Amino acid sequence: MSAPLVGVLALQGDFEAHERMLARLGAEAREVRVPAQLDGLDALILPGGESTVMTLGVARESLREPLRELAATGTPILGTCAGLIMLDRDHLDILDVLARRNAFGRQLHSFESDFEVEGIAGGALRALFIRAPWITELGPAVSVLAEVDGHPVAVREGNVVAISFHPELSGEPRIHELLLGMIRSRGTANHN
Ligand code: GLN
Repeated sequence: MSAPLVGVLALQGDFEAHERMLARLGAEAREVRVPAQLDGLDALILPGGESTVMTLGVARESLREPLRELAATGTPILGTCAGLIMLDRDHLDILDVLARRNAFGRQLHSFESDFEVEGIAGGALRALFIRAPWITELGPAVSVLAEVDGHPVAVREGNVVAISFHPELSGEPRIHELLLGMIRSRGTANHN
C-alpha cells in the first residue's frame, strides 16, 4: 500500500511539527494553503497556533466551504489546540462543540499533564498544553475521550477528532497513529 497523504493546514501555526510527526510515521504530508490542495487527501490536520489569525487566512483563501465539504465526505480530520477551536460551532462549525479559548487561565500559559485517552492503548499520554482551550458545550453525537479537571480536552464525532494539547510537540505519536488508523478503517469499510 502506498503511504497515506495527509494535508496539514499551513496558514499559520505549528504545521511543520505535524509534518515531522507524519514523516516519522511513514505518511506523506502536504501543506494546504488554498482549496485545490485539499483534493485527493486521505486526512487533514488543523494545527495549533492562533485561531484568530487562521480565521483570517481561511476567509482570505475562501477555504471555509471546501473544508466543510471535506469533513462532510467523511475524510478523517484532526484538530489540535487552535485547530480544535477552528472546528467548533463558532468557527468552521464542523464539530458540534463550543471551545473556550485560553481556558486554563493566564497563569497556566503552558503545562504538562498525564492522562489516559479513550481508544488509545499503551497507558497515559504526556500531554503538552499551551494557552489551550477546553470544551464548554458539546452535542449528543460527540464523545469525550479525555478530560482535565472535569473539562473535555479530547473529543471525537465520527471522522473528526479534536484535542486541546500538542502531541506533535511532545513527541507523542499515538494521536497521529489514531488518525492514520481512521484512514485504514475507512478504506476497509469502502471496499466491503
Ligand atoms: N490560544 C490559541 C488560540 O486561541 C491556541 C493556542 C495553541 O494553539 N497552542 O487560538
